[in-house]
Amino acid sequence: MSAPAPTPEEAAAEADALKRAGAVLTIDLAAIVENWRTLSALAAPAECAAVVKADAYGLGIDRVAPALWRAGALTFFVAHLNEGIRLRALLPDAVIYVLNGLMPGTGPAFAAAKLRPVLGSVPEIAEWSEFCRATGKPLPAALHVDTGMERLGLSLDDAVRLSDSRRLLGFEPSLLMSHLACADTPGHPLTGRQLSLFTDIARRFPGIPASLANSAGTLSGRDFRFDLVRPGIFLYGGIAVANVPPLRPVVRLDARILQVREVERGATVGYGAAQRVKRASRIATVSIGYADGLFRAAGSTDAKAGAEAVVAGRRCPLVGRVSMDLATIDVTSLPEPAVERGAMATFLGEGIGVDDLAARAGTIGYEVLTSLGGRYLRRYVGG
Ligand SMILES: *Cc1c(COP(=O)(O)O)cnc(C)c1O
Repeated sequence: MSAPAPTPEEAAAEADALKRAGAVLTIDLAAIVENWRTLSALAAPAECAAVVKADAYGLGIDRVAPALWRAGALTFFVAHLNEGIRLRALLPDAVIYVLNGLMPGTGPAFAAAKLRPVLGSVPEIAEWSEFCRATGKPLPAALHVDTGMERLGLSLDDAVRLSDSRRLLGFEPSLLMSHLACADTPGHPLTGRQLSLFTDIARRFPGIPASLANSAGTLSGRDFRFDLVRPGIFLYGGIAVANVPPLRPVVRLDARILQVREVERGATVGYGAAQRVKRASRIATVSIGYADGLFRAAGSTDAKAGAEAVVAGRRCPLVGRVSMDLATIDVTSLPEPAVERGAMATFLGEGIGVDDLAARAGTIGYEVLTSLGGRYLRRYVGG
């Protein structure tokens, strides 16, 4: 289902937009779809949903969710009610759960957009029950039971009480779920404990589909998959479990080289004079900064190496701090004609994954993706 070839006018407009762009973010929808299919095949017979919260992990829910729906995904998870409302406009027939649950007085908004709240506390359950009774419609909602995250979710005691009085609910529990705290770390003892608690509690709610696994849980074995899995990060090319390589990379991030300068040995580069060059160097200044999600913490100092970018096929280190709109990279090792004004430096792609960049900034791939800025020219391919 590839898009029709662009008309000459469209091709000219795209070339023009590329020329104007300081940095370009390319998002491969076909890779996301392929990653979903891979997980879906692994999870079967469990259903494979898709987590598209936070604007599909920063990659654009407007393009990502419809691509997944066309590939066969039926159930979607967002975090905020407003994300759900936006997704409903895109996918009129999908099942959509709102992970952050029912905020006071929002029952009508959920019903109007046919969204299902993930109910994780006694007051939420009471309010949804009351709302459904008042409207005379037992609308669906998920029940979230906490098994060790201590963030959202019913306590085990409340869940047991609820299972005894389930007939009294004014709504239809359409999913029973819990969330794993440590599945990204193989062998973590909390994961086994959560699995066993959730297995016990699921037995108390027969007939309600159960769901425990995020991406990491999905990769952790059949026992974790129950009736439905809820992957996010693995769809978007991130690492889900420490020892499992990511699936196909999804994002590519290129930033324009604005100028290349000769810097004398011993000079310092950038704010704070944080890094001194140890040899006569050529420094390329590129049009990307922390306002674009290139974390300031990914910068380089005399004490610590920062992130890298690929220029003309070679890895080049950042030099000095990342500024708001600019970063500086050392291109001394490249033959001079290989680096010219207007060329691109690649910060994601060409072998640099979101988790590689994350590691240089002391964070995780999730934060790299969801911090991608709004200033890029965004190009979608494979859709
Ligand atoms: C974000 C989230 C997921 C998806 O997690 P990944 O680690 O990105 O796969 C699944 N379930 C819940 C409750 C979440 O909050």
